[in-house]
Amino acid sequence: MTLFEKIAARQIPADIIAEGSDWIAFRDIAPQAPVHFLVVPKRCIPRINEAQVSDEPLLGTLLSAAAATARQEGLGDSGYRIVINNGPDGGETVPHLHIHVLGARHMTWPPG
Ligand code: 5GP
Repeated sequence: MTLFEKIAARQIPADIIAEGSDWIAFRDIAPQAPVHFLVVPKRCIPRINEAQVSDEPLLGTLLSAAAATARQEGLGDSGYRIVINNGPDGGETVPHLHIHVLGARHMTWPPG
């Protein structure tokens, strides 16, 4: 099992803030903003580059879940940033697809 599958299965503790039948949202252990959580599919897709056409409904669900959880966290009006890191140059460190949602501070552009 991947690290995030173990979190979804409650084998590793995490601060879970929202959950659906096929996704889970929990706070990042090393937050890069006052609000920083991850939205993760319970079924492992290693990274967005390996998503299949058949994964498209799940990908849509993940984006909707990210926005709904951001609203739940009070970010709906102030705004937030969604990030997906893919592969070595993208800065991916956990090989299980996840959407970062960061907010409650102003984001700069371009990202580092
Ligand atoms: P990536 O670098 O792959 O885009 O993002 C992985 C994220 O997972 C990082 O922001 C990292 O802080 C977070 N992370 C790694 N291990 C754990 C953990 O055990 N629990 C939680 N909640 N987050 C983790």
